[in-house]
Formats: sequence, structure tokens, C-alpha cells
Amino acid sequence: MNEFDFIRQLREQTSRKTSPRIVSGIGDDAAVFRQSPDRDLVISTDLLIESIDFHREATPPQLLGHKALAVSISDIAAMGARPLWALISIGLPQSAWAGNFKDEFFSGYLALADRYRVSLAGGDISKSPQVVIDSIVAGEVKAGRAILRSTARPGDQVFVTGTLGGAAAGLKLIELGARIGETSDVRRQTSDDVRESNARLGADSVPGAEASGLTTDDDAIQSLLLRQLAPQPRVGWGIVLGDERLATSMIDLSDGLSSDLRHLCDESNVGAIIDATQLPLDEHVKHLCGRRALDPLALALHGGEDFELLFTVNPDCVSDLPKRVDGVTISRIGEITDQPGIVQIREQNHSWDLPAKGFQHFSD
Ligand code: ADP
Ligand code: MG
Repeated sequence: MNEFDFIRQLREQTSRKTSPRIVSGIGDDAAVFRQSPDRDLVISTDLLIESIDFHREATPPQLLGHKALAVSISDIAAMGARPLWALISIGLPQSAWAGNFKDEFFSGYLALADRYRVSLAGGDISKSPQVVIDSIVAGEVKAGRAILRSTARPGDQVFVTGTLGGAAAGLKLIELGARIGETSDVRRQTSDDVRESNARLGADSVPGAEASGLTTDDDAIQSLLLRQLAPQPRVGWGIVLGDERLATSMIDLSDGLSSDLRHLCDESNVGAIIDATQLPLDEHVKHLCGRRALDPLALALHGGEDFELLFTVNPDCVSDLPKRVDGVTISRIGEITDQPGIVQIREQNHSWDLPAKGFQHFSD
């Protein structure tokens, strides 16, 4: 049994006992509660465990603090809601307690909280063999306006904010030894990796991977590390889509496009077809990895943690969408179909089933 099956089971076990004031419970990015006749309260929690969800030696505490808040803010944005309040519980080993870890962690956390005017309202601190973080964020939306995963309709157009694949490429670079703020051997290793993969695939050398200068590669590496370590939640887009009722359904991309799109389709009882040529691949991923080595398309489809918003729009509303919000653009990447459970990808005249190969903690 994987974790998604278990969550489904939990949901069935609890469905008969839910309070009438729970507008939407288990199964969406955040739970929605009727707070007053005109306001709904939206709450999400996310767990970050050392060595599972992050590598402590590669993650400056300040960025970990930022990410802990960012991932939960992203779930609130995915409901079309405005983040307002937060709680943070943290378990720390003695060494992290005694050093600068906690101060740096909270400086990153509070800087992001300030940016979105989110107020820290409580939490808990405990000693732990490893760093463990539980991050809760609550927000508000007009009553009935939260954008659920379960309300996509056939014919809706599928959109995504920003670019894809950067965070997964950043994780691969960390695994290769790249570190934030350092020029390291990873540039050479990346080129070697690319050359080795090409040799295996019988492909030509990747244009740009070796011809480019050191600075450009180092900039690309640093930028990808930041996509992984310091995700930027799409708060502005979430609020616009919620306030103006522009999206019919929405989810944030935490597990990876192929898995998150499937969650949305399963919840909505629809299918989808994605156009591979329309996917907004991260420019640095294309530059560093090349099409055939660390395949940018695979990273965009199955790599997780981009924390972009994936949303669907009724065709009549597409022309009402703003071109950009807070400098972030959107791309139309496909369409919702009336074939439940069938998620496909198309490239020119070929289409094939898109397996959900994003992140999962436990497999069958
Ligand atoms: P997300 O990636 O958006 O944070 P998850 O995949 O973590 O969402 O969770 C999917 C859904 O399952 C959410 O609605 C979440 O609240 C619910 N869920 C996850 N774990 C549990 C749990 N232990 N008990 C109850 N609900 C859970
Ligand atoms: Mg989510």
C-alpha cells in the first residue's frame, strides 16, 4: 500500500463523522472550514524530516527556515486563499540547539513570513535525534471560493505557473556535491555526467554544456540550487485565481507534474492530455543538462518540489487570465478530457500514457 491509498482509506473512515463546517477535508492541498457566512478558513500542515525531505549538510539553516514556511504557504496558495497565520513545531538535536542553527532557521522563516505578512502565532520545540519540522499555515478566502482539486471539467484548459524541472535538477546537483555559494567540482562532474550519459545513449555532445563559460554554468547551478532550497510560493497567482474565480480546480506541484496532475484528475473524475512541446522547461535545466542527458522533459514531468501552481480554466475564461502576476508568467500545457483515470502526453502526432512517477514516500 502506498501513502495515497492509505490516505484514501483514512478519508473513508472519517467521512461519515465530519463536521458540517468542514467544507473540504482530507484529499486537497489544505482543509477548508466555514468560519462565518462570508469567510472560509484554510489550513495546511507539512512535515520536513532530515535526510528524507532535506539533506542538512547541503541546506543552509536560513534556507531551511524559508522552505519550511514556503511549502505550507504554497498549499494555501493552491486553494486560491491568502496566507495569514502560521504555527511551527521543530525538533532539534543538541548540536543544532547549541549552535547558530535555530537563529538562522528562524531568520529565514521570519523573512518569508514578513514578505507575505504571515504572522507566526505559535508552535512547539523539542529535542530530537534529527531535525524534524512541522509547518502549519492558515489563510482565508471568501466563503465557497476555495479552489479545490475536485472540480475540473472536461474541456477545461490546463495551465501551470512559472517553469518546471528546476527544483529536481537542483536536487540532482546537490547529490553530485554542488553547494550553495560555492564554486565546486560539480561543474566538471556535470559535464562528465552529461558526456557519460550521451555515450551511453549514443547521442551527440550536448550543445552548450561544454562550450559555455565557467560563470554561466556556475550561475545556472546556483540558480537551480535555489529552486530546490528556496522555493517561491505563488501567492499572488493563488489570490488572483481565487478572488476572480478564474480557475475551476488547482493543486500545487510538490510531488511532480505527472503525480499531481493525476491527483487532480482522480479527485475530479476526469482525464487529461498534456502537450510536451508546451511545457515551460527551466532555462537553466536546458542549458546545463541538455535534452538527452539529465532529460529536462523527465525532470519537468516527474521531478518534484517546483511549487508552481497547476490549475484548470474554463475555455470561456482563458482570455480573462492576466499575462503575469508578480512577474510570474503562465503556460497552457494541455486540456482536461472526459476519460477518467487516463492521463496522456502528446508530442507532435504521438500520444502515450503518462505514468505518475513523481515523489512518493512508500511504494506498494
Ligand atoms: P500536499 O502534497 O498538498 O501537502 P499530501 O500529499 O501531503 O498533500 O496530502 C494529501 C491529502 O492527504 C491532504 O488533504 C492531507 O491533509 C491528507 N493527509 C496526509 N496525511 C494525512 C494524515 N496523516 N491524516 C489525515 N490526513 C492526511
Ligand atoms: Mg499541495
